[in-house]
Amino acid sequence: PRKFFVGGNWKCNGTGDDVKKIVTVLNEAEVPSEDAVEVVVSPPFVFLQQATGLLRPDFAVAAQNCWVRKGGAFTGEISAEMLVNLQVPWVILGHSERRALLNESSDFVADKVAYALAQGLKVIACIGETLEQREAGTTMEVVAAQTKAIAEKISDWTNVVLTYEPVWAIGTGKVHDGLRKWLQANVGPAVAESTRIIYGGSVNGANCKELAAQPDLDGFLVGGASLKPEFVDIIKSAT
Ligand code: 13P
Repeated sequence: PRKFFVGGNWKCNGTGDDVKKIVTVLNEAEVPSEDAVEVVVSPPFVFLQQATGLLRPDFAVAAQNCWVRKGGAFTGEISAEMLVNLQVPWVILGHSERRALLNESSDFVADKVAYALAQGLKVIACIGETLEQREAGTTMEVVAAQTKAIAEKISDWTNVVLTYEPVWAIGTGKVHDGLRKWLQANVGPAVAESTRIIYGGSVNGANCKELAAQPDLDGFLVGGASLKPEFVDIIKSAT
């Protein structure tokens, strides 16, 4: 059985005071037990330590990115080793905003996933097609190629959560089924059965219940709504 996963991606938002406010809401919330849902919030790097110190012990934090290899002369980057040193357990890699705005290729993302896993981090690996690709009918091709790039560089999927994030696709669930079938055919039945495939794209307190009921959907990566109290409702949609 795959445990429901709810990630909150704060993106490039907030101040130290906002971190306190959001974490207070989360800490006071009554949510399903750790056995039913895994909750991970992802503040900007500069707030990771603060969030880690304040956050309830049953929730974890994720970084929003890390460098592709060992640290060194890479000004402005944060290495996987640094995250491990800070006891940050998770990292989001390959987010569509980084693929689109910072030109991160599928190979580059796959190298990051492999390196981060090798350092002991758990990875929220993001894939998804653009609107143009969707309109051209190449959705499954695109997400299969992005997944293949990763599959070629890792063998152990235990610490990977695969996140499908297309803004247009709310409520369809079709691509999740396609991805699980892709894993089954190309990686193996055990990995297909155990890997959580989650969804991101305008998930909020109002639509989370219906989305959570979609077959093959094992959780969410939430952007905007993860900065608001309704994130608690999204966590509760696990049960
Ligand atoms: P929104 O929930 O704001 O649409 O963002 C989705 C996302 O990109 C989460 O990583």
